[in-house]
Amino acid sequence: MEMTEAISAIADAAVRLSCKTLYFAKLSDFTTFKIGGIVPLLININSVDSLTCLLKLIRIYGIPYMVIGNGSNLLFDDINHDLIILRMSGDFAGIKVNGEFLDCAPGAMLTSVCRVAANRSLSGIEPLFGIPGSVGGAVFMNAGAYGREISDVTDSVTTITPDGLLKTYSAAECLFTYRESLFKHNREIITHIRLKLTHGQSDIIKSQMESYTARRKEKQPLEFPSAGSTFKRPKGAYASALIDECGLKGLAVGGAKVSEKHAGFIINTGNAAFSDVVALMKKVIGIVELQTGYKLEPEPIIVSDNIVKF
Ligand SMILES: Cc1cc2nc3c(=O)[nH]c(=O)nc-3n(C[C@H](O)[C@H](O)[C@H](O)COP(=O)(O)OP(=O)(O)OC[C@H]3O[C@@H](n4cnc5c(N)ncnc54)[C@H](O)[C@@H]3O)c2cc1C
Repeated sequence: MEMTEAISAIADAAVRLSCKTLYFAKLSDFTTFKIGGIVPLLININSVDSLTCLLKLIRIYGIPYMVIGNGSNLLFDDINHDLIILRMSGDFAGIKVNGEFLDCAPGAMLTSVCRVAANRSLSGIEPLFGIPGSVGGAVFMNAGAYGREISDVTDSVTTITPDGLLKTYSAAECLFTYRESLFKHNREIITHIRLKLTHGQSDIIKSQMESYTARRKEKQPLEFPSAGSTFKRPKGAYASALIDECGLKGLAVGGAKVSEKHAGFIINTGNAAFSDVVALMKKVIGIVELQTGYKLEPEPIIVSDNIVKF
């Protein structure tokens, strides 16, 4: 991997736009799985205007790029990637309250959005408290927990197209279904999310958030790096129950292991390689299909130059 003239020019522009930039960034530092190779440039996007300028430049130079949020649902290959990473979380994270509406920049963490809502006595997203992602990533994934999905409270979503056009979609136009949205398919970058909540009582909202946190701490292996649930819920069953039923808790390949605490999580016990996680996922999928007839599908977004087939 080399620092080409084009990448240097884009990095210079990012610096002029006051976006923090990192050369030769290790993706393992930007993902909750702590796995991933090096990219020549990572830019922390700080506003729609900066994003618009940088996309224009990226288009002119024809450099491949990828958007990430908080990296909590990503499994990157640990080879080096010739990609520019546009990181939305951190510096592009404003949240404004307008009556029952919350206007969020994509990099706002779900946890912060929930806290702001609770402080303003706004209810509707309590079950999502504790999901360690950005609100942009949550909309992309249609993240959900305990019977609630971000789509249930989404009013509209604004994006920027690869050609630099801003578009606003109503919730219906976002084509949300279980862990699916339009944005998984159209290469647009989410720049603004408007959530619609309902008035409630702040103390009740806060105590519900605390109880969801306690449930997460009790059930999930939060002490280990992971990308959350490794498999989507198949129709009519729970992935974790199927994996448990097949006796796969504790099954390991290299540094990747099926959590003993929650069979739905593959954890990184230390030095898991991308190939360890993929091999373990394949094993789990194969055994579960053989023993139960259910074919599990991965939930995290897998990024590799090689086609990974399950
Ligand atoms: C311990 C743990 C618990 C979890 N619990 C849950 C849970 O209960 N429910 C659940 O649904 N998920 C859960 N997750 C998974 C994850 O937190 C969610 O999917 C989260 O919404 C991902 O957000 P992110 O910002 O981290 O996205 P990333 O992982 O950074 O990105 C995910 C995808 O979204 C895209 N993306 C991100 N931001 C944008 C944007 N602004 N515009 C366009 N595309 C974008 C990326 O390109 C990528 O393809 C958990 C993960 C962990 C580690």
